[in-house]
Amino acid sequence: MRVDIISIFPEYFAPLELSLIGKARTTGLLDVAVHDLRTWTSDVHRTVDDTPYGGGPGMVMRPEPWGQALDAVGEGTLIVPSPVGRPFTQADAHELAELDHLIFACGRYEGIDQRVIDDAAARMPVREVSLGDYVLFGGEVAVIVIMEAIVRLLPGVLGNADSLTEESHAAGLLESPVYTKPASWRSREVPEILRSGDHGKIARWRRDQSLLRTASRRPDMMAVYPADNLDKKDRKA
Ligand code: SAM
Repeated sequence: MRVDIISIFPEYFAPLELSLIGKARTTGLLDVAVHDLRTWTSDVHRTVDDTPYGGGPGMVMRPEPWGQALDAVGEGTLIVPSPVGRPFTQADAHELAELDHLIFACGRYEGIDQRVIDDAAARMPVREVSLGDYVLFGGEVAVIVIMEAIVRLLPGVLGNADSLTEESHAAGLLESPVYTKPASWRSREVPEILRSGDHGKIARWRRDQSLLRTASRRPDMMAVYPADNLDKKDRKA
């Protein structure tokens, strides 16, 4: 997968050299290029913003450097993090993980001139995505979050691909609690059933915990969980 990231703070992306994303880059599964938007400015101050038409507080990112930057990186799927975007989900991560070329445009200030997004949408798929109902300083952190969600789905990135099928949001539920050694810590015991070696009972316990957690913490998820996916024992839980 090829990823181009355009930002006025390229140094924000140092974490993409670490851990499993860094490894995916060195093994060639992922090719990331981070571009400084100011490369495409033409004035001595390397200006990327101006006052908003119609008045109001703050500054808006000018269209010219963005237009040139997007022309330079070519066509792909453009992802624009924005609080006005659709909420980013695991399903989006799966869809994006199938694509060959992603382009991320990191907004700052009051955001990017709308014509940049409209112009790009005339020649490539564009997704405005929100991380949640709050406002960040800029799109950089959002891009790192979205990249993590996508890159861990790329074949060969995770050591054990089963992790992907058994984790939260894989099948519309939250994962059950997890434990490791020691069996007793600060007088808190690992649930007996997980030490029983009875794989059938362990699977049932995990399923029950997953359902209970989802129902209590995320009734919105439980409300849309398909009734057909529930068996008789699930209904008891
Ligand atoms: N004026 C914008 C508004 O009210 O919708 C907020 C702009 S915000 C200060 C600057 C940039 O941060 C945005 O262009 C976007 O790139 C990023 N950003 C802020 N909140 C975000 C969120 N919840 N999800 C994704 N990106 C966000």
